[in-house]
Amino acid sequence: MRTRMTNIILTPGATGESHITFIPNAEVQIDGNLIVYAGSAAHAPRFEADETIDGAGCLCMPGLVNLHTHTPMTYLRSAGADLALDDWLNKAIFPLEKQWDEDLIRSATDLGCMEMLRFGTTSFNDMYFHTGIMAEALRDNGMRATLGHGIVDFDESCADMVEGVAMAEKWNHACDDRIRFSLAPHSEGATTPVLLRKVAQTAKQLNVRIHIHVSETDFDLQGCLRRRGLTPPAYLEQLGVLDVPVIAAHCVWFSDADIEIFRRHGCVIAHNPVSNLKLASGVAPISKMLAAGCHVALGTDGVASNNNLNLWEELKLMPMLQKGVTLNPTVVSPAQTLAAATVEGARAMGYDHLGLLEKGYLADLILLDLNVPNMLPAIDLESNLIYAAQGSDVRLTMVNGKVLYRDGKFTTLNREGLLQKARDGAETMRRRMEASGAARL
Ligand SMILES: [Zn+2]
Repeated sequence: MRTRMTNIILTPGATGESHITFIPNAEVQIDGNLIVYAGSAAHAPRFEADETIDGAGCLCMPGLVNLHTHTPMTYLRSAGADLALDDWLNKAIFPLEKQWDEDLIRSATDLGCMEMLRFGTTSFNDMYFHTGIMAEALRDNGMRATLGHGIVDFDESCADMVEGVAMAEKWNHACDDRIRFSLAPHSEGATTPVLLRKVAQTAKQLNVRIHIHVSETDFDLQGCLRRRGLTPPAYLEQLGVLDVPVIAAHCVWFSDADIEIFRRHGCVIAHNPVSNLKLASGVAPISKMLAAGCHVALGTDGVASNNNLNLWEELKLMPMLQKGVTLNPTVVSPAQTLAAATVEGARAMGYDHLGLLEKGYLADLILLDLNVPNMLPAIDLESNLIYAAQGSDVRLTMVNGKVLYRDGKFTTLNREGLLQKARDGAETMRRRMEASGAARL
């Protein structure tokens, strides 16, 4: 399939330079799953397209990358609202999570993918259970994702890791390399040193990333100091975990020494500002991390603590929070923010040619409507993009050269069927939980 996007304003994306570039009267040419041209229409080479998409009035930009989520948790949306973290997990989330079956995981995953596509997210990095079912959903719905089977292990049985390895061996690089796998030990507090050493060795052998929660709350930090005598980054470094490419979610409670450890190892920080605020975990020192040269990308975290998969909220909050905390309005630039929502996440998942719209890059892109009240006037398009745009302004979402969402319609997902399943499925889980004797929420 050869596709041409015409009449667009183009941003190739940003790698963290001082400004975002916009090219008016631009064109993008896509052959199969690759971009073969992205630039001014006046300089575009001849190109015979099977389909031409008129993007008049739209900004064509890289698709968003959600670097930390737990997609099937869509069915736990608003469960245990406003409880403190401990009660939220033990009284709301864990009892509901015991009620999953394969059909529910599948439809909850598809619901999450539908929500992400509708808001312009083209790929995501996930940690959850039942990853084989999730991979089947991705195979069919066309999204790009890295999945990691969550490893919770106190007895050193390594049962979760064995399952995670089996899934990685089966699915890593499947479906034209849209599906990748990581190893995903939940956190320092949910594992042992023996397990984490084994995860590091195995990740090296399999050549996969490690995806882990790090220093999400002060409770996590204090627990690690008590149990290990070290901060979580120092502990992970000592065990050799940071010798493997690591995606570390949250990193809220970081000292300057922790930031230096992460910089030295090139770890990627998956920043989840909405979730951190909702669960009252704190504000990660993102401006310090960026100034130190750390890699920062954005994530929503699971829907249960967000409560949606609309990454535009994180795009706005990331610089906003740093301005508020540092009292410096220039502390995080729009370009750094856009990079965190796109190319930094793509590279964190190991894709060298993803997250920018340039020749030779994978065709994961979106069209954002600029002809809406909240985007006019366009005196400063860069600022509009970060602070004024809404997820609902996304008109089209393309992954790997295929249009998966356009003007309210999904090409691989049954919208009405999935919405009904969401109503029924969440109710089924709630009924089962109550029948099992757990307290009513
Ligand atoms: Zn998480």
